[in-house]
Amino acid sequence: WHEGILRRQSARESAARTYARALPIVPVRARGMTIEGADGRRYLDCLSGAGTLALGHNHPVVLEAIRKVLDSGAPLHALDLATPVKDAFTTELFRTLPPGLADHARVQFCGPAGTDAVEAAFKLVRTATGRNGMLSFTGAYHGMTADALEASGNAFDVRVARLPYPQNCRCPFGVSGERGAELAARWTESVLDDPKSGVPHPAGMILEPVQGEGGVISAPDTWMRWMRKLTADRSIPLIVDEVQTGVGRTGAFWAVEHSGVTPDVMVLSKAIGGSLPLAVVVYHEDLDVWEPGPHAGTFRGNQLAMAAGTATLAHVRENGLSERAHHLGTRMLAELRASVGQFACVGDVRGRGLMIGVEVVDPTEGPTPKQHPEPSQDPARPDAARDPRPPAPELAAAVQRECLKRGLIVELGGRHNSVVRLLPPLTISDEQATAVLDRLTDAVHTVAR
Ligand code: PMP
Repeated sequence: WHEGILRRQSARESAARTYARALPIVPVRARGMTIEGADGRRYLDCLSGAGTLALGHNHPVVLEAIRKVLDSGAPLHALDLATPVKDAFTTELFRTLPPGLADHARVQFCGPAGTDAVEAAFKLVRTATGRNGMLSFTGAYHGMTADALEASGNAFDVRVARLPYPQNCRCPFGVSGERGAELAARWTESVLDDPKSGVPHPAGMILEPVQGEGGVISAPDTWMRWMRKLTADRSIPLIVDEVQTGVGRTGAFWAVEHSGVTPDVMVLSKAIGGSLPLAVVVYHEDLDVWEPGPHAGTFRGNQLAMAAGTATLAHVRENGLSERAHHLGTRMLAELRASVGQFACVGDVRGRGLMIGVEVVDPTEGPTPKQHPEPSQDPARPDAARDPRPPAPELAAAVQRECLKRGLIVELGGRHNSVVRLLPPLTISDEQATAVLDRLTDAVHTVAR
């Protein structure tokens, strides 16, 4: 059964990139952070639907909310009409918004995926400003549709200018901590102010507070505030992509709250739909330039997703799951640094809240001291200035395979696919966290040998 399904799907489905396609698992049942495969094996799931499942699989409050809509006879598809289900969702969503935006917010429902919301946000700021260019950052991930793709990865286009994102490990300026972030911010400032930079006055700037697909890289709060000031001073709308960082994941309900930055636009998806497809753009009312018509989409009224999303947002808020993500994430990071940080094949262990990454490097290559002439400026990150040996995607894949053998599902990410990523549900128990760490440590140990 298990083998047959795997064989048929690999013959029928395109080989286009999808999350976790390479994992030889055929999930048939799931609850919390446990997935059971068709072969009867059980796994701890640290992928969580690419960060979608804030409450884990089939959480009772989500199932109950979905059942309630099903049993009520309400339309499951309501285009963009007002419904009680949508009313409850927007009420709960607005309750969670960062101060500064909450009282002046408008919401635009988009097509079902994060990338649709990114497109809508670009269109919104382009319409509002009458300008076209967009600023984004190296290593960013905003989706797979044309504009979102342009703002991701390393392509360069006149419409999208890519700026350095601050990072400790492999800092483009060869320093780490606050100093690296300051240099990255100054670079952006000089690009914006240099008429010869080729970057015209842009319609907006888009950034992730923590780059997830980019390899779990957290922007320092000072840099976030700097970007806010640079954009505010120049009347450039700041779009914060919280598709992956939102709903408690990083230890605050929205990751922008760490820095106190109020964005003009927030792009939200994944966990806001409580495991079902839902994407919205939330923006300041001053940007509300839409006339009826210019931004449509058939699947903007998914009532089941809104109900599941309302239940998820409320459960995270009422149960303090953001704080839990902060405390548990801090513990997991410290333990992981202690257990694998010293292996030669581990270049960096980093994260914020329950978004954790282990960068796997080639242990046979010597250190490259040029890249880090200064020690870390950040006392909390003594390892930040460790030599970044070349990324080792094959070794990272080997760690992933070893994890799987031990019943642990992890994702790979980063610019070179060399970062082992953990995105457990926020409902992960202390015991499950310990099991995740034990299995991952054991897997890295095996690969390091
Ligand atoms: N933005 C970010 C920050 C993401 O992490 C993702 C998905 N990983 C997207 C946008 C795109 O979302 P989707 O895959 O739903 O289109």
